[in-house]
This record gives sequence, C-alpha cells and structure tokens, in this order.
Amino acid sequence: MEVDWSAVDKKWQKKWAENNDHETNSNDKEKKFITVAYPYPNSPQHIGHGRTYTITDVHSRYLRMKGYNVLFPMGFHYTGTPILGMAKRVEANDTELIEGFKTLYKVPEDKIKEFAEPVKIAKYFHEEIKSGMIEMGYSIDWRREFTTIDPAYQKFIEWQFRNLKEKNLIVQGSHPVGWCPKDQNPVSQHDTLGDVEPDFTEYIIIKFDLNGVKIPVATLRPETLFGVTNIWINPQVTYQKIKVNDEIWITSPECARKLGFLEKKIEVIEDVSGSDFVGQSAKAPHSSDSIVILPASFVKSDNGTGIVMSVPAHAPFDYQALVDCKSGKNKSINSDLLSNIQNIEPISMIKTEGLGNIPAKDIVEKMGISHQDDPKLEDATKEIYSKEFYEGILADNTKQFAGKKISEAKDEIKEWITKIDSADILLELTNSPVKCRCGAECVVKLLSNQWFLDYSNKDWKKKAHVCFEKMNILPNEIRSEFDKVLDWLRERACARQHGLGTKVPWDKEWLVESLADSVIYMAFYIISKYVNKKEINGNDLTDEFFDYIFYGKKDSGEIANKINVTKEKLEEIRNEFLYFYPVDSRHSGRDLVPNHLTFFVLNHVALFPEENWPQEIVVNGSVLMAGKKMSKSMGNIIPLREAVRKYGADPLRLTILISAELLQDADFNVEAINGIKNKLESMHENCAKTKSEEIPELEPEDKWIFSVLQNLASNVSQSMDKIRLREALHHILYDFDSELQWYLKRAKSKQRTNISGILHKILSSRVLMLSPFAPHIAEEMWEKLGNSELASKSAWPSSVGTEIDSKSIQTETLLKSIIDDINNILKVTKISPKKIIIYTAEQWKSKVYNSILKNVLDGQTNVGTIIKSLIANKETEQIKKDPDFVKKTLNDILSEPAELRKGRMSVGQIDEREIISSELSSLVKNDYNVELDVFSESDSEKYDPKNKAKNARPFKPAILIE
Ligand SMILES: [Zn+2]
Repeated sequence: MEVDWSAVDKKWQKKWAENNDHETNSNDKEKKFITVAYPYPNSPQHIGHGRTYTITDVHSRYLRMKGYNVLFPMGFHYTGTPILGMAKRVEANDTELIEGFKTLYKVPEDKIKEFAEPVKIAKYFHEEIKSGMIEMGYSIDWRREFTTIDPAYQKFIEWQFRNLKEKNLIVQGSHPVGWCPKDQNPVSQHDTLGDVEPDFTEYIIIKFDLNGVKIPVATLRPETLFGVTNIWINPQVTYQKIKVNDEIWITSPECARKLGFLEKKIEVIEDVSGSDFVGQSAKAPHSSDSIVILPASFVKSDNGTGIVMSVPAHAPFDYQALVDCKSGKNKSINSDLLSNIQNIEPISMIKTEGLGNIPAKDIVEKMGISHQDDPKLEDATKEIYSKEFYEGILADNTKQFAGKKISEAKDEIKEWITKIDSADILLELTNSPVKCRCGAECVVKLLSNQWFLDYSNKDWKKKAHVCFEKMNILPNEIRSEFDKVLDWLRERACARQHGLGTKVPWDKEWLVESLADSVIYMAFYIISKYVNKKEINGNDLTDEFFDYIFYGKKDSGEIANKINVTKEKLEEIRNEFLYFYPVDSRHSGRDLVPNHLTFFVLNHVALFPEENWPQEIVVNGSVLMAGKKMSKSMGNIIPLREAVRKYGADPLRLTILISAELLQDADFNVEAINGIKNKLESMHENCAKTKSEEIPELEPEDKWIFSVLQNLASNVSQSMDKIRLREALHHILYDFDSELQWYLKRAKSKQRTNISGILHKILSSRVLMLSPFAPHIAEEMWEKLGNSELASKSAWPSSVGTEIDSKSIQTETLLKSIIDDINNILKVTKISPKKIIIYTAEQWKSKVYNSILKNVLDGQTNVGTIIKSLIANKETEQIKKDPDFVKKTLNDILSEPAELRKGRMSVGQIDEREIISSELSSLVKNDYNVELDVFSESDSEKYDPKNKAKNARPFKPAILIE
C-alpha cells in the first residue's frame, strides 16, 4: 500500500501546530532544555545540515515521550561578513553567484535584485530554512525565534560584552590574527573559503650584521645559533634591501610583505641579487666570528626571510648543502671560496642519548640522501628535531646555557638574543594558502590595540576544564579533543570592522565578531518569547534587566518600573529562566568542536553560576552523497526542501540517521531511501490490518514474543539514552522481524485465531518507538491502530507491561533449534520425510549439563578440569563412561549467547519431552506434513532402529528422520 508522503506530512504538521504541541512553558514537570547551533542564513539548508537538526529533534521527541517538559527553540544567526560579501557581489553583478541563486537555490529573480542589501539575503534564506525545518517535522517552539540583529538581542550582547570586560576577560592588546588584506578585517573559520581556521606559527628572527646591514634568518630553533657555521642564501632569488623601522635589512620580497603586517614600518630601498652576497661574511650576535654566506638551492624565498642560518651538525638540510658546496659542483662558488670553505666543519652543540656527535650527518648517510633537494630531508629534519627537543642537553660550547635541556632553555635563549638586540619575530601561516571568502589570500597580522577575548587566561581555562569534566559528552571519544582545544586556545580577536551584528558597546567603530555573539544565546530563548509577545520592549532592555533575569540582582519592582513592565512579568521571566537553565543538551556538527562549542563552555563558565553550566554536548559528523563529499563544485548538494518534496520527511530523516552513528560520516543514497520507504509502507499496511482485540490467556509462544518485545524496548531505550540512533533504528525496524516470523508460524501451526490483540500490542510498541524518528508516519500508523491520542504525546514504551519470561525464551530457543536441525538434515540427505522421531536426553545428563553450565558461568571452561570435578561428585560420576559427552556439551554451551546461558541457569531443568510433544507436533505437521514421535533416551519401549537415542544431549535432542 503506497503512502502519500506529502499528504501525511502536511496532515500531522497541521495537527501539531493546531494543538501548539511544541510550545513549551515552565510547569511542575521535570524539564529538558535541548538546543542546536542556530543556522547562518546565507543559503538554503541541504541534507548535510539536516543531520544535526534531525538528531536534535529525535532527541527532543524521545525525551518528551519519556515524560520530560522539553524545550527545543530556534534562532537565526545574521552576524558576520559572508552575507555582506555576497551582497557586494550581487551589487557588482557577479554572474557566478547570481546563477547559483537562480539554478541551485531557485531564488526568484525579483528577490535576487533585492540582494544587494545584506539583510534581504538573510531574511530570504531565514524564511527558506524555517520552512524547511517545519517541513522536516522539527518540534520547535517557534514563539521564541529571533535574529541576532534584533534590538533586544543586541542589548543582550552588549550586556555580555560589558560583563566580560568588567571581569577582565576582554582585553585590549596586540596579538596576531588571521587577516584579509582586502577587507581589512580579521578572519576566522566562518570567513574563509572551505571554512578553514587560519593557523600560524611564531618564528624567531636572528639578525646577523654585514657592515651595518642586517642579514635576518628565521628559525624555530634559536638555540642552534651556537652551532652556526655559515649562512645560506639562494643565488637565484632577487632579494630586497628594505628599511625596517630604523634598520636596513636584506630579505625576500615575500618576507618584506609579511613584515608589513606585523606592525613594522617597511620601506623598500632596492632589489638585490642573492648571488651578490655569496662569499661575503656577516657577524653573528653570539661571538665575534665572521660567518660566511654560501649559496643553497633548498632555501625558498616564501619561507621565513628567504635566508637561513646553517647548523650542519643538527640540521640535515644544512649538512647536505654544505657537502654539496664543498664538492665544487656549485657554480656560484669560485675557486678561492671553494678552497676557503674546505675547513668548515659541523659544530656539535647538543648531546642527545641515542644520537651521535653529528646527528645530521648520521641520518643523511643512513637515509642515503645525496643532494639538498631530496624530499627525504624533511623526514630527517623532523626526526632529529623532536628527539633533540625532548631529550637533548646543551653542550659546553653554549656558554651560560650549557647543561640545560633544550625544551627548557629555548625561551631563555630567545630572551637573551632579544636583549642583545639581535632578535625579532616573524609570524607565518602554517596552513597557507587560506583564502578569504572575498577571494583574497589571508595573512597573519599583528593587530594592535584591538579587543581580544582573553582565552589564554589560565583561571578561565581551568574553570572550563572543570565544566567539561562534569559534562556528559556524546560520543565520549571526542572529550580529549575539547581538552586539547582548551589548552592551545590563545587571545582571540572579538571585533570586526564590517558585517552585520552588534556594536562593541564601548568602541562603536567596531562590531562584535560572529563567534563571540553566539555563545550564550541559549539564555536569550527565555527572553525572546516575551519580546515576541510584545510583553517587553527590546529597546528598553538594560544591563540591570539582564542582571535580574540571570542573577536575580536588585529589586524586581524597581527594575520593572524603569523598563515599563510589571513586577510580576519580570519575576515570571526570571522564574522561567531558573526553570529552563542550564542547557541540558547542546547539539552541533563536529566542525564546531575547536571553536563554537568550546567558546560556548568558556563563556558560560565566565558569565553564569555553576548551577547554570551546560550539562551535555552531542557532536555529529557530516553527510556524504553516495560516498562523496557534498560540495557546490561537485554539483551534488541536495537542498533539504527539495528532498522533502521528493521523498517525504520521514524516509529522509531515517535515511540520514540509519547509515552512521554520531561521529561517523553518514552516507545518503537513493537505494537506502527506497528501502526505508518500503519498510515504513509495509509497517503502515500492517497497522491498518491489525485489529485491537482482547488478549487471550497467554500460550508459551505469546509469553516468548512479549519477552522478546520487552528486550527490544530495553535495548532501544539504552541506545536512545546514548544517542546511538543508528543502533536504535535497526532494533526498531529490523531486529524484531525474524522473531515475529517465528511467532506467526507457531500461531499458524496451532491454528490460532486469537492473536490479533497480541499483534496489535506489539505493533503499538514498535510504532511508539518509531515516533521520535518518523513522527508523521508514526502518527498515521498510530491512528490506524485505532488510537485517538497522538503517538508523540504517548509514553515511551520502556516497559511493555509483561515480565520477561525466561522459561518461554528457553522453550522457544529449543524448538527453533530443533527445526533448524531437521532442516539441515533434510538439506544434506535430500530425503522427503515420512516420519520424524526425536529422543530427549536421560535425567543424569541434565544434572551433568547443569554442573558444566555452572562451571562456565563461573569462568571455568577447561574440559579436563571440568571432567575431574564431575568425576569427583557422586551425582555426576557416570560421565566416566562417556567423557565425549562432556566435551560436546561444553561446546554446546559455549556456542550460545551469554544471555541465554544465564537464563538457563535461572530457569533450571525443563521437561523437554513434554514441551516437544505438546508444542512441536503441530509445527512438524505444518512444515513437513508428517507425524512426530518423541521418546526419552531412557524409555525402554522406544523405537530406535538406528541407535540414535544415546546421542541426545540436553537442549540438543537426537533426531531420526525416515
Ligand atoms: Zn576578504
């Protein structure tokens, strides 16, 4: 029976809306406050976005059915530069962007014309995203919707910023930031193409002196200055003579540009060729020696200053380049110089256990490196660097630093070179090129006198660590990532020059950055409801108001007067905040771990008392399209609304969820969605056919199927609690099927006509479990099952109302295994049966069986030991006659699931002969159309022409087929 998915979606969405089912106010039930990262409306959402929101919705719906008062709200994040960039491109008539709006996003042309105004873009996609969320059936309380440019929200952010500044957590200073030179704006992940966070490293510049001109080299290893033998310059590169503040430097042009962003006044004097410097000498800062400048091709002009200090004892590149020079192959070296450099020898200045005196030489020879452009030199460098960093000790020729560990002396040496005025710093992007969304290549800029969130503050980090420790993190394996992020976080620029958003309250030239105004907004969902209802005026809100709502500071009557509301209203808002806070679960994609999610915790611990700190974070991976990453350039992005129209909300929700657990990448493909549709349609059909009748007195198979159902419910509940949604869905949709088939076969063979009530109860439980995942079709099924209440308003079926009946589980397992054995025998022998005879084991075997079972449950599985203990006991000593029986029984037990073994122990002996005679005959008659005879092995009258009875074991009767 085909389902009209679109009609079903609309029918139930209408019903939920009419009933205000997803509007949540405080009441006397226990609450759960579930939030998910609000969307940035610069495009419609696609299936990838749908994953995070669907998981959040399933979580909310599940908790609602568990009896909690669940609040799931949504806002829209307008803040930031990307929308501004898009508006500029529309204004400039950028055809690529406009075509994308038309063909990919299906934006009407008259709308696109308005897009030169950034807010119009945001509003258009805001409505588009919201419609998609409603069409997906998300159970959102829309009364609390807001955007980050609403006046009330801006007041809230001003309060946040003033508050952080008062606590000294926003500081003015000079710190490096990723920077777009075109926009003249700091950039972070959200501002870059491909969402890359600019990452940078600080190099130490050491300045050598050539007759008053500085020859700067950049290094991560300032300590190796004591091992310098020469300087490398690339004779093929055109360098620049530049004025840096008051000094004259020689650097590559790339370096000159980088220095310009580091708060230095740079003036280019003239171009100079690298080859001009070959053979000249410069004075090193640490001694009076002259250091000769030699040519090297491995030196790159875009790396550091384009000039390198050579430490051949400890740097494999330097060692190899020196060998190359001495060999005379290098044409830039004349014969005088060549004879002069023959006596340059590596200077060893670090002792490291396990490394020789000249480690660079050893490793170059070991790796068989023969020229300086060999890529293996990179690996060689890394290997020596890390070993020396952690284990190296500075040798006697390092003056006052002799005997110190490298890891400890590094900073002291840097300080010392700085003191003698021979050092500077150079900042380099480590993940370059990073492109701004405007297309420009980003650089590192030393931003001075700017506003920074002091994420390097140790006390602040410590508090955040405490919060993380107490928090539930799903999946838990991502926990260590948060710790790492917290540890490496540094000062972060929190103001921007352009974009939408809130002005920095004390410096109106600047705007609050988008990852700074989106960290505590969950608290704003309490207030936005009252703003939207016009019960408070957004423009009136003051710091006092927020201090009262969030901290309960000062007298409510006094504050109420000032902002033109009643005292009662103000107290109502305060109480609602106290009721819903803290956030019980925060959902987000994995890409927000190193930024938003960590900032969310940092800002909460800074601004809220401990009882209001977040309780849980849930992180999910992305969605692939038929195994491939979704991207505009691949043309494989499916907008969410289009997919809903094509497949229906529920098949889409299930397909997104069923292919992967939280952190894994989910895979979306059309075959999967068709499979899900068929499954839901057949379940729906069953619901329409199954009548709710009275449940009869329970037969063994009824007790069994209810036990299986109870197990299913427990398993699903456990998976749901851990947000293991893939697992839960598999249980609900598929795991139960083979059991249900067996049950129907049993009932049919017994010619029962009274099982409809039982089937109805089973289906009802499964439909309720399905409801958080596939809310629309579950309501439809629930209605077909004859219910007048909504499935989503029913209680989660943690318990199906019957006890687990261990005996029935043992019985059905026995019957199933006999049928399996009969089928196997028939398959092998290919006979068509005329008669089937079953022999159950003798009484003493059961006693032995129980002893062995007890041994196994106690952890004893050694057959020799077990046999010894059996012989020692009078009751079981008969096994002397048949030790093989022990071996086989032990294997029987070990091959069964642990659950079943435990159940066997608690149930004890069952009367196999009785059970088989009464329950199996009808099944055998039904399946093979023959009679079944059952004998006990000890039965003297038994028919046993093939002498099979002696092979019978407990739960493994012997079978004869004639
Ligand atoms: Zn830019």
